[in-house]
Amino acid sequence: MVDTGIVTKRTKGFYYLLDENGEMVECKVKGQLFKSSRYDNQIAVGDRVSFSRSDADDIGLISGIKERQSFLSRSRVGIEAEQIIAANVDNLLVVAATKKPPFRTNFVNRILVAANVGNIKPVLVLTKTDLVSKQEIADLLEPYRNIELDIIESSTKSEVSDSELKTLLVGKVSVLAGQSGVGKSSLLNKLFPGLDIKVGAVSHKTSKGSHTTTYAIMHQVVKNTFVIDTPGIREFGLWGINRDNLGENYPGLAAFNHQCKHRDCHHIHEPDCAVKDAVESGSIHKSLFSGYQSIYHSLAN
Ligand code: GDP
Ligand code: ZN
Repeated sequence: MVDTGIVTKRTKGFYYLLDENGEMVECKVKGQLFKSSRYDNQIAVGDRVSFSRSDADDIGLISGIKERQSFLSRSRVGIEAEQIIAANVDNLLVVAATKKPPFRTNFVNRILVAANVGNIKPVLVLTKTDLVSKQEIADLLEPYRNIELDIIESSTKSEVSDSELKTLLVGKVSVLAGQSGVGKSSLLNKLFPGLDIKVGAVSHKTSKGSHTTTYAIMHQVVKNTFVIDTPGIREFGLWGINRDNLGENYPGLAAFNHQCKHRDCHHIHEPDCAVKDAVESGSIHKSLFSGYQSIYHSLAN
């Protein structure tokens, strides 16, 4: 008999599914499945899969994977492969701290691009707001203010209401992405006290010299509400993005992208560029645009 389940966790060779009755099932993948896959990891957390239960032991066998509605993927450094971090996700929480570690604009921008590529709604969550002044918070967030992006400020060390964030998460599947140390675990524990995720956990880091890889984990925090915690991401390489399609996927540019004189305008050297005009007039924030230029120049062609 074939059942369906959602992948909540994986380890080397094993997948842990939540079946339709809410039970955990340990599974392996059928040998011949995904022989010619272009993916580094063929099955990701959040994937809906079909599987059969075995009579001989308790380990099920995954035999198929359903089409993804959305996904967060990146390029694995060094191996030129797509790594699907999470699949079938409603919200992508881009978690960045005001400081400790410092706010990395380039990192945030890259994840916002990946959200567009993967058809996920991004939300910028600025953590550790207790560490800086109101003015510093305003300065950090200003480039993102007049684009279509929800922004939530948070602090686990002061009295900040989490109701907005909680409302956003309830009944949805959300993935958290950010560098190690920005406060993802602390935030999840504060929102859902039963979770008890280790704060400052070293397990989130890949230890040098060994081949340990850690994967995302999906937690069911309340019924029908899932959050996917990802291991601290150090570098975010964009997958499926090149110099020709960056503009249509970059936050805040899409509205102007097609108004340029040249249809395939890259908004770099071309004359009569609507994007550059929008930067001049202040409709696109200068530093948001320099973020675009910086990603553009990092791309090969
Ligand atoms: P993660 O690696 O993103 O999961 O980050 P953690 O949740 O493990 O937090 C890393 C460190 O930041 C810990 O020492 C936390 O106590 C600290 N931290 C988390 N949230 C806040 C916050 O809102 N304010 C301050 N000042 N420190 C925080
Ligand atoms: Zn242009």
